[in-house]
Amino acid sequence: MTQNATDIKIIIIGCSGVGKTSFVQRWIKGYFENVYKPTIVSDFQYKILEWRGKCYRILLWDIGGQDKTPSMAKIFTRDSHGCIVINDASKKDNFNETMKWKKVVYDESAFIDGDKLPFILIQNKIDLLQNDKEDLNNIMNDSQKYVDSGDFIGYYMTSVKENINIDEPIKFLIDIIIDRLEKFQLSTNYEYENKQRNTYKLDNNKKDKSKKDGCC
Ligand code: GDP
Ligand code: MG
Repeated sequence: MTQNATDIKIIIIGCSGVGKTSFVQRWIKGYFENVYKPTIVSDFQYKILEWRGKCYRILLWDIGGQDKTPSMAKIFTRDSHGCIVINDASKKDNFNETMKWKKVVYDESAFIDGDKLPFILIQNKIDLLQNDKEDLNNIMNDSQKYVDSGDFIGYYMTSVKENINIDEPIKFLIDIIIDRLEKFQLSTNYEYENKQRNTYKLDNNKKDKSKKDGCC
């Protein structure tokens, strides 16, 4: 019974080939495929989670295409609560492009309380750097600097392929989102759940009859 679940919409951004679709698939369905099919159209998948005694429907939006324009960013950040920025840690020159994405989306994004969305950084494909401890350390130091400067609320070193650190960033982000939603609700008496739910269409996931929702 998902009727009482509160929606949390998280968008996943980053350059092509960094592992966005793989990340979503790993977290939602628990598997990894070593094939690359470019995501043309943005799509979402969801999972129901019980968190701090309440039921949430966590929607992960996999943003396809290469359109980094502000108008596009505005469309796909609408009603969103958080953003996961994925970078390919195995490619040294990927980070500048990743930050361009981040900036466009950051500028256009707004949380329900009017402030900016929380952004989290994922340095993916660390399995490809297993033998390069110096590179790994440099990436961690650089990522920490971005966290210290306020660009991100946190960073994680992940391997979607090896199933390393997949749950942790999402749970960290959800915790922060729920705190902010609760504070906002308390301060405004805003009927968040009802208002939010009217904005989503769920046809994608309804097609999958074998999928069972977990809680409530
Ligand atoms: P997207 O364009 O950002 O959605 O990237 P995809 O999820 O389609 O992944 C692009 C390619 O990278 C695919 O061949 C994936 O199998 C591969 N990939 C994704 N994550 C990892 C990872 O953690 N390690 C390695 N080695 N390959 C990965
Ligand atoms: Mg994709």
